[in-house]
Amino acid sequence: MIDCKNLDQNGLESFAESLDQPAFRGRQIMSWLYRPEINDFSQMTDLAKSFRILLPQHAFISNFSQPITEISSDGSIKFVFTLADGQVIESVNIPEVDRNTLCISSQVGCAMGCKFCQTGSLGFKRNLTPAEMVNQVCSVRDFLESQPDEQRFGPTAITNLVYMGMGEPLNNMENLLTAISILTNQKGLDMASRRITVSTCGIVSNMRELGEKTNVNLAISLHAVDNDTRDKLMPINRRYPIEQLLQACRDYPIQKRKRIMIEYIMLDGINDSDREARRLASLLRTIPCKINLLAYNECDGIPFRPSPNKRILAFQEVLRKAHYSIFIRSSRGSDIAAACGQLAGKISQKNSDI
Ligand code: SF4
Repeated sequence: MIDCKNLDQNGLESFAESLDQPAFRGRQIMSWLYRPEINDFSQMTDLAKSFRILLPQHAFISNFSQPITEISSDGSIKFVFTLADGQVIESVNIPEVDRNTLCISSQVGCAMGCKFCQTGSLGFKRNLTPAEMVNQVCSVRDFLESQPDEQRFGPTAITNLVYMGMGEPLNNMENLLTAISILTNQKGLDMASRRITVSTCGIVSNMRELGEKTNVNLAISLHAVDNDTRDKLMPINRRYPIEQLLQACRDYPIQKRKRIMIEYIMLDGINDSDREARRLASLLRTIPCKINLLAYNECDGIPFRPSPNKRILAFQEVLRKAHYSIFIRSSRGSDIAAACGQLAGKISQKNSDI
């Protein structure tokens, strides 16, 4: 049985043809699938009745069941989804006055083992399907639309999407590309590519393909300016050291006026000195980029501390003087373990206690 949400428009056209239907029937299915409350082919009233009867013999429409939600004092909401095979993933919505940024997962767990990340400490379980990626968006969209105005911190709609939840998206390339195709299709979830960001810890081998096949934004988790430190923080650096990663950024087929987002987590005494800020400024000189300095959230069992605010401001100042666009991203949702690097820790702990 085929889950129709695993297919983008081309896939649905081929699927329709495989059932001796014209390709446009696939486009008709696409135009129904992502509307709220569609979970049955019988609701697709412009399909021929005989086709509506035939479809359930070959395919189904997946939807997530009601997620568990935890709401932070700052309005961030963590969504916990249990998948059909019992695995658990998380998404986080971060509201601001004029936007909702939804952070979604691309894998159950992660194989990359970054030392500051709780997801990394869980290990890798499996890749998410395209349907499991887009259903995070559908489910959060439906939740936000059902919220009463007085409980809402941001607008009703999801305005921005970031692949910064559980998993390394570029290690799940085929499914990622299908999901992006669905997310950006007018008949699908109709999101603008410029509102979608894919973040990678540095899977150099797949970066170019992302740039050639999509127009989404690229974010790089750099987090250190020398290979010794990065080797210790992010094991992927032994495979793709900083020089290779930055060369891949220079070679990235970026659109005019777009810039790569460089993510740099501020760890007390590890990577946050003025010397390291100057080194970062020098390393990035030939890359069209913006820099995000991320406040770190302490996690149980992980031996790093956040840099003091004064240090973060001093680090920022060095880069500002070097004429970089540089932003400090404060921690959101840390009281519900929804901040960067905290996803799935608590839930998996609960599961392993059962
Ligand atoms: S930071 Fe990202 S890539 Fe690294 S272990 Fe965590 S989820 Fe994986």
